Amino acid sequence: MAAACIFCKIIKGEIPSLKLFESEKTLAFLDIGPLSKGHSLVIPKYHGAKLHDIPDDQLSEVLSVAKKIAVAQDLKDYNILQNNGRLAHQEVDHVHFHVIPKPNEQEGLGVGWPTK
Ligand code: C5P
Repeated sequence: MAAACIFCKIIKGEIPSLKLFESEKTLAFLDIGPLSKGHSLVIPKYHGAKLHDIPDDQLSEVLSVAKKIAVAQDLKDYNILQNNGRLAHQEVDHVHFHVIPKPNEQEGLGVGWPTK
């Protein structure tokens, strides 16, 4: 845990979030600034800024949780994205995987990626 990290504060419950999944190693919650309806983030609870900072055993559930969310939201078209470093559009220095639904035109267009 890193005291100043906003996602560590979410893990500790110091900042509220809308949780979709939680286990010993992993947390998923709705993104506060969604690019489309249902946009969520899946994070390892282990604090590390970039993917290579996280031990493999702390990452083992992340993709299966992203898949569970896609299934639970009945997503047909979606992006799984993970940014490392400012040039790659990373804003929060705690590894996170975006699950971004791509709604069809009847449901309203998503904002898209990477234009924010
Ligand atoms: O990949 P990147 O670092 O750019 O994404 C960070 C994401 O974290 C943004 O989509 C932002 O809306 C989200 N966020 C959040 N809750 C916070 C701070 C940021 O969901 N308290």
